[in-house]
Amino acid sequence: MYGIRDDLLVELDAIRQAGLWKAERELTGPQGALVRTAGTASGAGVEALNFCANNYLGLADNPEVIAAAKDALDEFGYGMASVRFICGTQTQHTALEREIAEFLGQEAAILYSSCFDANGGVFEVLFGAEDAIISDELNHASIIDGVRLSKAMRYRYRNRDMGDLEAQLVAARDAGGRRVVVVTDGVFSMDGSFAPLDSICDVAERFGALVMVDDSHATGFIGKGGRGTPELFGVMDRVDLISSTLGKALGGASGGYIAARAEIVDLLRQRSRPYLFSNAVAPAVVAGSRVALRLAAQADGGRARLRGNAALFRSLMTSAGFELLPGEHPIHAVMFPGDDGAARAKAVSEAMLRHGVYVIAFSFPVVPRGKARIRVQLSAAHSAEDVRRCVAAFVAARAEVDGGSAGA
Ligand SMILES: *Cc1c(COP(=O)(O)O)cnc(C)c1O
Repeated sequence: MYGIRDDLLVELDAIRQAGLWKAERELTGPQGALVRTAGTASGAGVEALNFCANNYLGLADNPEVIAAAKDALDEFGYGMASVRFICGTQTQHTALEREIAEFLGQEAAILYSSCFDANGGVFEVLFGAEDAIISDELNHASIIDGVRLSKAMRYRYRNRDMGDLEAQLVAARDAGGRRVVVVTDGVFSMDGSFAPLDSICDVAERFGALVMVDDSHATGFIGKGGRGTPELFGVMDRVDLISSTLGKALGGASGGYIAARAEIVDLLRQRSRPYLFSNAVAPAVVAGSRVALRLAAQADGGRARLRGNAALFRSLMTSAGFELLPGEHPIHAVMFPGDDGAARAKAVSEAMLRHGVYVIAFSFPVVPRGKARIRVQLSAAHSAEDVRRCVAAFVAARAEVDGGSAGA
């Protein structure tokens, strides 16, 4: 008899053997600049400065956001027990959608349980067999899955490569693509690099193609007013669809959305499967997100602090001899190239936790072979002193790891 149990144990073991096992570290309290990890069989819990959250503006434990969520429990209850179109729409769901659209300069917005669902539910509705989707090769998994669910013709272009984007647009045109859309992450989260949205809009417009941006790693903190990469590149009026998350800078709880022209959003409300067949976003999360969005809109100080922290980190790390991918985003990729890079990055990140700094190492297949890295994410919640402690932990951990290996 076929034994699925043994089969799965073999598969699990293969993941461990390949060094790809993702163990979850438990925290004992809220997300913040400082977190406490739970004790495990192999050691006591530690207090650590957190440099691996998407908590860019520090809103995840913001007292005003928490108070709004608590009040909403009393006013709006715990859950909706319904999808939106049956009896799951409260006044605050529509208010949040209006506020998101207004903030992003779009006509309308539609909430989903997550940005993963937003991306999963958008393509199938708008793009059929006679249409074409042109997607950056490094786009987020949720875009890849959403594109798979649509029957549209698919084209992939090399990361941020405008020549290749144009070549793929030519191919889509030659194949007779009716509706054509170029879709890109606004920020590529493993590198901290921006999609060149102004150039993308230029190229797309020459082919009459729509432009869609997933701004999950930008909404709230990138661009002068925090309106994301379209604002940074001066193309807010040239981007057709924006997807993003409430699970990162905007409070970090959960939920996602698509913002676009009214007729696009209207059609998604009628046809988008993750919207139609999944529960409404929880009342407390909606209320918290509304306050988070308002705070983000006003967070000029927070954005300045975040930029300052990112610049300080980059300059101190560069002086200390670390190799960072270039960029301006608060995501920093600290590179550990070469054959032993994956092992070194992992060892350095583990040593850093002993020095009270929490960061994560990434290696193949999450990033290309030979391009292992430790990803550091700055937050407005960090102080300059926190940033200095992070860099000091890098220096100390590198010395321990390299000093301990033969020939270093
Ligand atoms: C985080 C992220 C998502 C998923 O967002 P959720 O709301 O957590 O589902 C989608 N796209 C990109 C680019 C992301 O970084």
